[in-house]
Formats: sequence, structure tokens, C-alpha cells
Amino acid sequence: MKVFIDGKFYSEQNAKISVFDHGLLYGDGVFEGIRAYHGRVFKLKEHLERLWYSAKAIALDIPMTPAEMTQAVVETCRQNKLVDGYIRLLVTRGKGTLGLNPNRCAKPVVVIIAGKIQLYPPELYEKGMEIVTVATTRNHHNAVNPAIKSLNYLNNVLAKIEANVAGVEEAIMLNAEGFVAECTGDNLFILRRGEMATPALHSGALYGITRGVVMDLAREAGLPVVETTLTRYDLYVADECFLTGTGAEIVPVVKIDGRTIGEGRPGATTRMLQERYHEMTRVSGEPIRRTGRKVG
Ligand code: PMP
Repeated sequence: MKVFIDGKFYSEQNAKISVFDHGLLYGDGVFEGIRAYHGRVFKLKEHLERLWYSAKAIALDIPMTPAEMTQAVVETCRQNKLVDGYIRLLVTRGKGTLGLNPNRCAKPVVVIIAGKIQLYPPELYEKGMEIVTVATTRNHHNAVNPAIKSLNYLNNVLAKIEANVAGVEEAIMLNAEGFVAECTGDNLFILRRGEMATPALHSGALYGITRGVVMDLAREAGLPVVETTLTRYDLYVADECFLTGTGAEIVPVVKIDGRTIGEGRPGATTRMLQERYHEMTRVSGEPIRRTGRKVG
């Protein structure tokens, strides 16, 4: 594997950054998780747009232009002969002092890793997933806004530990007011009486790229979609429920907090959206091909 760090490629063994990097010391940085399908990087423009917004929100200047970053991502895929896989792109605050002041960090560090994705077990896509709500509250928007895809994922990790303890793969996080926000690494949708609903961003959801694609696909299929506030009750009485994420894609949910959702198996609308999503991954994306251009 070859890893991109600040314009150069390193072998896996030599891909190292400083222990004084504030990404490590304080989780000070931003990142993206991106998929490649059939030799194309899926929704790269949207991921880079969100990366730049995340960086802006934490007052971090990405030391490259979006065009250079596009080039760097594609080149990293090419160097790794990636056709289908997962790309982890991160920008840390960079090397600084032991104090947390970001002004003491000389220059942000850009890292791009192109590897394989660990999906949920295939049977979960067939049978559907059981999930639970957990006690760990999603970050308050005035603390670390969940719209920022930052390197500080401890809020989500704590909720994931609760999911592990409960013996399930994912956890639903509520916001400080008790409304549904999202899962630890996925957005959440329900279908009720022919209308799709997903928590609004102000409920504490990440502006998920897959969420956006699924909303477009649903509308194209003639389904109304609302971004709203949802309670646990809304989830329990839903006809269908599913999760969306770059890694997870679209995962049917069949049980929440012990309540069976709909018929207790993946619903027809969830299946239809899964098919349309896969169709889209087959035909769109930034081509990974020889660029011949210098990156960095
Ligand atoms: N919410 C959280 C907390 C996430 O980390 C992610 C990404 N894994 C998502 C939602 C889904 O976002 P996307 O569709 O852009 O991957």
C-alpha cells in the first residue's frame, strides 16, 4: 500500500506523522470516508465540498486547492491500483506544541489512504439489522457541531461501545433534547404512510453524502421526503427504517429497542432504494486513470 502524506507517497511501514501532530494529541482535524466503485471515485466533489466546510468551521486552512485534492485522491487510488475500495482522507492541524493552541501548529498535514472497506456482514443486508437507542447524547451543536466531520469521534465511539454492550452493530444517538439525531457512523431514515423522513441537520445529524443521494433517489421515485424532528416513538411505529453511509450504503433496520419495524424484514421501498443506489455506483464518479500530472 502507498500512502499519500503532504504530496509524497510512502510505503505502509514508512507512512508516519509526528506524535506532536494535533490530530493525534487533540483530535484536531477533519476527514472524509469515500468509496471507489468500478474504477471511479463516487461523489468525490461532494465529499471535498464537505471537507472544506468542516475545515472552515474549525478555522483550518487546507493547504491545497480542491482541484489539487481531486488529483491527489485519484493519484492515490491509481498508485494502489484501487478499483473498488475505500479512501480515507484526513487533514490534521499539523505538528505543534504540547499545548492545544492551534496557532502553534506550523502547517496542516494531508493524508490519503486508499484501502479496503469492512462492510457489515452480508446477511444484515438480507435480513435487516437490529439496533438500539443509547444513553450517550450526540454532541450539542454549540459544543462540536455534528455537521463537522472532525477527527474527534469520541462521542460516537462511546455510543458504539454501548451498542457493543447491547450486542448490536449500531446505536441510535439522540440529541440533548431527546430527538433522534443519527447513528454512530450512519444517517437514519424512516418510511411512514408513503412519506420518508430523516432527522434535520439541526437535530444533530451529519450532512451525509449517502443521505443526500438517497433523498434525491426517493424524490425521483415520486416519494416525498422530509427533514424533520423525530422521536423514538416515530421510529417504533415506522413502516420501514434504514441507515445510510458511505461505508454501509443502505442497511435495512428491522428492530429498534426490541420493537419490530413493519413486517420485521427489509421493506419494499428500502429494497428499491438499495437497487437504485447500486445502479448509480455503477455509472457515476471521478475516473481513476493515469493522470501524468504532479500532485501535492
Ligand atoms: N453520520 C456519521 C456520524 C458518520 O460518521 C457518517 C459517515 N460514516 C455518516 C453519518 C454518513 O455520512 P456519509 O453518507 O457521507 O458517509
